Amino acid sequence: MVNKHQNLAPVIGLEIHLEIKTKSKIFCSCLNDPEEKIPNKNICPICLGHPGVLPSINKQALIKTLKLGIALHGKINFVSYFERKNYFYPDLPKAYQISQFACPLIKGGFLMVNGKKISFDNIHLEEDTAKLIHSSDKAFTCLDFNRAGVPLLEATTEPVIESPEEAKMFLQEFQLLARYLDISPAAMEKGQMRCDANLSLRPVNSQKLFPKVEIKNLNSFHSVEQALRYEIERQRKMWEQGTPPVYSSTRGWDEKRKETFPQREKEQAKDYRYFPEPDLLVYDISSLVKEIRIGEGPFERRERFKKEYGFNSKQAYSLTKSKLVADFTEEVISELKSWFVTLKNTQPLEKYEWEKQKQKVVDLLGNWMINRFLPLFPAYILESSDIKDLKVTPENFAEFLILIYQRKIPSTVGTEVLKLMVQTGKDVDRVMEEKGIKTIDKSLDIDKIADDLISQNKELVNLYLKGKENILNVFIGKIMAKTKGQVDPEEVRKIMKDKLDELKNKT
Ligand SMILES: [Zn+2]
Repeated sequence: MVNKHQNLAPVIGLEIHLEIKTKSKIFCSCLNDPEEKIPNKNICPICLGHPGVLPSINKQALIKTLKLGIALHGKINFVSYFERKNYFYPDLPKAYQISQFACPLIKGGFLMVNGKKISFDNIHLEEDTAKLIHSSDKAFTCLDFNRAGVPLLEATTEPVIESPEEAKMFLQEFQLLARYLDISPAAMEKGQMRCDANLSLRPVNSQKLFPKVEIKNLNSFHSVEQALRYEIERQRKMWEQGTPPVYSSTRGWDEKRKETFPQREKEQAKDYRYFPEPDLLVYDISSLVKEIRIGEGPFERRERFKKEYGFNSKQAYSLTKSKLVADFTEEVISELKSWFVTLKNTQPLEKYEWEKQKQKVVDLLGNWMINRFLPLFPAYILESSDIKDLKVTPENFAEFLILIYQRKIPSTVGTEVLKLMVQTGKDVDRVMEEKGIKTIDKSLDIDKIADDLISQNKELVNLYLKGKENILNVFIGKIMAKTKGQVDPEEVRKIMKDKLDELKNKT
């Protein structure tokens, strides 16, 4: 019996299924397109599971699994092979799934999440099953085999995750890596990435593992977090009543009622009677590994953004949230740099020295990208892989930033201009011309104009000195009219207020 005041700590492990993006399915030449709307379009005797057919392995599926395993610092099993996992379910008519058990492609590995190493047990490759579609009255069920035989990567973590929030962050980082390495679009809402979560509780000072509950088929980051929170509370009550779970069980997640519910009991590994798949040869993985090139992952890119450009951690995180955004950012920086270098060649002034101004420019870029530009797009666009979807080219964005940097357009107007650039795809000059927005003329001497106005409008000044503070706006209006709006209103306000307040202090 656990006393209410004794702390219980959650122990969480995750099992992720990732549909690998390849041209064809894992063991046949049917198109790998689980999103195909016409049921049973991409099928053949192999992926239908007819007896006597011969599967052959898709090399790309092997390469992509190895790629992720290497990026996660796992150990490659050079003698990896496939096994039959025997069980019957309507979505698997041949009554076994070709999977891996004793010798998965990758053993171990880890992913850094918020400075913590989340370690893996193994990463392996298997085939996806068909999809069951139940009629609304549950009177009958249809089967769609478009998904059967889609290559599925399974990654299982060690039970080292300590909270629902950490589980969610881990999954987001895993998804980002899969996208960076072009292994899968990994959209949870499309079922391209699915997750089962194991959870048990234990007293905080204990290292023992207690019987766990496996929550199946969680299909969004949010539901993973919610289901784990619910389950922690449910199990906490059991502990407090002196009846903690005595055996491992499987539960589902009811999205509407926001609660878990018991499901059919899961087979143990021994029930599956795994044995080596006799129709598939052991593939020579060593020659494949030589072909594998791994690009920069999100973690490495974030670190580089900090080191190379001087972004802070938060900025680096936001700007690498998708490969598209990170690529765009780097192209804008390169445009900005070349603008500085060109100017420096003709006007050797310190204000055009890139190395000296870089930090200021990069901060400005980070601020405009994160707070004003990226929020103009829905998430799916930022996650796409085509830079054209951003409507504004890196060159145009850099041109716009330079105007802001030179204070040639005030930031309030800038926000509007940027919105129009995204809406129309036009460059900053075109947008401003069409909207009749003039750039700020730096040659206009606001100081002098303000002084003149003060000496010409003694009565207004007196009113201000007597406490009528809105007179300041009258003066600002006069300056804006006199300069035809070609000055920064914020700057005007500051200069005018300083001057009037100085007079006030003298009286
Ligand atoms: Zn097929």
